[in-house]
Amino acid sequence: MARVRLENVTKRYGEETAVDDVSLEVKDGEFVTFVGPSGCGKSTTMETVAGLTPPTEGRVYIGDDDVTGLAPKDRGVAMVFQNIALFPHMDVYENISFGLRLRKYDDEEVRRRVEQAADIVQLEGMLDRMPAEMSGGQQQRVGIARAIVRNPDVFLMDEPLANLDAKLRVHMRTELQRLHRELEATVIYVTHDQAEAMTMSNRIAVLNDGKLQQIAPPLVCYNEPTNLFVAGFIGSPSMNFAEGELVEDGVETPNFDVELDPAAVPKVSVGDAVTVGVRPEDVHLAENADSLAQPSAPIAARSDVIEPMGDEVFVYLLLAEGAERSMEKDPSSSADQLLMSVTPDTKIEAEQDVDVVLDRSKIHLFETATGDALVHDITGRSGQDPGTAATEADD
Ligand code: ADP
Repeated sequence: MARVRLENVTKRYGEETAVDDVSLEVKDGEFVTFVGPSGCGKSTTMETVAGLTPPTEGRVYIGDDDVTGLAPKDRGVAMVFQNIALFPHMDVYENISFGLRLRKYDDEEVRRRVEQAADIVQLEGMLDRMPAEMSGGQQQRVGIARAIVRNPDVFLMDEPLANLDAKLRVHMRTELQRLHRELEATVIYVTHDQAEAMTMSNRIAVLNDGKLQQIAPPLVCYNEPTNLFVAGFIGSPSMNFAEGELVEDGVETPNFDVELDPAAVPKVSVGDAVTVGVRPEDVHLAENADSLAQPSAPIAARSDVIEPMGDEVFVYLLLAEGAERSMEKDPSSSADQLLMSVTPDTKIEAEQDVDVVLDRSKIHLFETATGDALVHDITGRSGQDPGTAATEADD
């Protein structure tokens, strides 16, 4: 296995910049997921590693070698795509071994590798099946086995589970984690599904508009997002945001204020526009404020829609008097709404007046103008610089 390094990789298609000056390193044996909305440049970035797309600028290294000008077959990478094209007239054994036979490996070596790969992806006993006789998940495992037998330095996987149904996706997620562990493989994985990114990866690389926003372990992206984009993209349902202004003793937003010492917030000063971010699970009923070390002052709200999810309940709160219900909209985009997540035993009904508090140790503050994170805890205890916390922290 080998590490992969991108150095200032840019890819332009005419006027459009698909990948914008991306530099990152995937360590030997690491599972790194590229995640972001559709069109953000995930696939193109991976294609520059695969050799399918030459970068307009920048270099790509695998191990210590500069592979920027090498053909895909000379890079030691194996790819698994969303649409695994199996040969319909070949059985599983022939499909998995196709590349090896093409490269004229001797029969015994081919058999050894195919059996080992089939064992890893749990396809033993199915080697003489035809693709048409297999489920989507089994076919996907054939595709993965075909990558394994090549003994690559790096696995590149582009949305390999996207065509599977939800249950199978969850199952394959655990299989891929096991595969990664057993092979100690270097994996670059592309997905728009943040659940996949959060559960499988050592680190996730969040991309937007071709630019790398943050590369960090999943929980660091969740707890210490580097900017508004990552904060809103990672986590489901999304973080609540409220735009406001830094004042002498805190932040004022249209519907609530939070207390803090402006001197403890780097980069901005009183009068600057800041955005408060708080995740639904960090909004609590005021009657439960005792469990919090540093709750905010109570915020008057009215419950609107209640969504019981089984293990948690989402409560859509309207903050402003006369605020319109607008459930089609993302609540995080409206200053008049706040989404709260509570435990199923919480007694709350629709259209009830409630006071809520925010856990101040979990309130994020962003500079509105740039979107950059300022602090991830407004109690003034942490004293960390979000910039450094966001990029490293995986060692
Ligand atoms: P993602 O994988 O995140 O959905 P892509 O890497 O496929 O995004 O695409 C990034 C951007 O580059 C998109 O706007 C897409 O339209 C553009 N793009 C990708 N491939 C090509 C191409 N071959 N020709 C022109 N534009 C392309």
